[in-house]
Amino acid sequence: MAKYIFVTGGVVSSVGKGITVASIGRILKSRNISVSVQKLDPYINVDPGTMSPYQHGEVFVTEDGEETDLDLGHYERFIDTNVTASSSVTQGQIYSSIISQERRGDFLGGTIQVVPHVTNEIKRRINQVATESEASVVIVEVGGTVGDIEGLPFLEAIRQMKSDVGRENILYVHVTLLPFLASSGELKTKPTQHSVNELRRIGIQPDIIVCRSDEPISNDIRAKIALFCDVDPQAVLPLITLPVIYETPLVLEEAGLGRLIVNMLDLPNTSVDFSEWRQLVTQMKEPKEPVSIAIVGKYVELHDAYISVKEALGHAAVYHNRDLDVQWIHSEDLERDGDSLLRSVQGIVVPGGFGERGIEGKVTAAKYAREHRIPYLGLCLGMHTMMIEFTRHILGSPKPNSTEFDPESSYPVIDLLPGQREASGKGGTMRLGIYPCHLVAGTKAASAYEEQVVHERHRHRFEFNNEYRQTLEEAGMIFSGLSPDGELVEIGELQDHPFMLGCQFHPEFLSRPNRAHPLFRDFVGVAKGVLREGTQPTLPLV
Ligand code: GLN
Repeated sequence: MAKYIFVTGGVVSSVGKGITVASIGRILKSRNISVSVQKLDPYINVDPGTMSPYQHGEVFVTEDGEETDLDLGHYERFIDTNVTASSSVTQGQIYSSIISQERRGDFLGGTIQVVPHVTNEIKRRINQVATESEASVVIVEVGGTVGDIEGLPFLEAIRQMKSDVGRENILYVHVTLLPFLASSGELKTKPTQHSVNELRRIGIQPDIIVCRSDEPISNDIRAKIALFCDVDPQAVLPLITLPVIYETPLVLEEAGLGRLIVNMLDLPNTSVDFSEWRQLVTQMKEPKEPVSIAIVGKYVELHDAYISVKEALGHAAVYHNRDLDVQWIHSEDLERDGDSLLRSVQGIVVPGGFGERGIEGKVTAAKYAREHRIPYLGLCLGMHTMMIEFTRHILGSPKPNSTEFDPESSYPVIDLLPGQREASGKGGTMRLGIYPCHLVAGTKAASAYEEQVVHERHRHRFEFNNEYRQTLEEAGMIFSGLSPDGELVEIGELQDHPFMLGCQFHPEFLSRPNRAHPLFRDFVGVAKGVLREGTQPTLPLV
């Protein structure tokens, strides 16, 4: 039978629960204990797929095509396991499932209530992960902050779990923030005390408190929290803000978290092997020569909107022994100010996106990359902008476009497939999840992957329009990745360019800190040889 670790957050949102959950996963995995993870999100949306990146950051896509919270990306990167749709539960899903049962007549005669109907559905989903994964430990993150009105059914469900599976099989971890008051030079514990009081009022006594802070946390502070929150002083763990997030499992392990979990849940006390992870973190922390990469997007003020892209670039930079220096470039600034913003970068990434705003700036970035032979990696929408720009160039016309942005375009180089036009609604109507991609021998894509067939994650509606294939091919575009029937373009790359490649999928979701994704790896590999404006050549061009 599985054991459960429930992780709640207190005081403020974005306190680092996701990284803590991912780190707990890594700590257990490093002890050879099998783990699975789940995120419970209390908002009423069915999934984050329809939410603005301003509200929610990136939408992470699982291999079975679920649009999920970006924390699932942290879980996959830290634990190196591929999660599935059952690892993502929202209040919207819970209610929509209960309401369709009610309409079917499953509850005839009964009144449907938060307790027990909503809580039972939540617990059913938690147990489902345990059953499907057969993991020894299921780590469940409760989204939001304790005290939020939406979170109550979830907290009630995880409270009930202790009588369902036995208190000894459950661990409650609460992650809080200790604010620093500059005027008195003190870290304050009161918000943590209040947050724990709120949890206890609901019937949950945390076993472990992880205290996030930007300042060192003294033993006195830990003792005070232990006393007021009725937790063992050893179980109050400081977690100071770290420059490299991948160091978190090491810091928490050193603070004794692994030992605490193993003792409290009576798990096998196996030896810990953190050698590879530690080596990786050491390498990440060492100052290295920078490689400067532009991410051209329309949400660049909010780095969370492109978190997997940034992480994948970071993994590739470490692989090449470089420090990633991201230049966040707003595509609308390129529209206004031209391409001068791109002059000092060594590589350009145009990530995924939806809607017309900022598109012309992204096309400008593709043009600059092509004309100046700067490495370019286009991810989904970034592949579309690369194709739009190239078609405009070879036809000598500004008209080629995607019908997403110009439905009447006379040159729809990116378009919906026949049959897709009829799809109604916005939620869950895209090509989602993994699809096979056959690589064409002798291309940059094939040489990066060193495979003939790869499986990559998708999230899009629009595709390359095959009517333009021959024209573009004749002008030097190589369609180096295709669907098994050859009908869908998965990867395009420019022949006469050091590295200009666009893919219809999102390779960033598959990159791992110790296994840089082949496309990111080769893109950064070429970019590191590009000379930045105003610098002396220190490296031979690749
Ligand atoms: N908006 C484009 C589409 O729907 C690209 C999507 C993306 O970049 N994920 O096809």
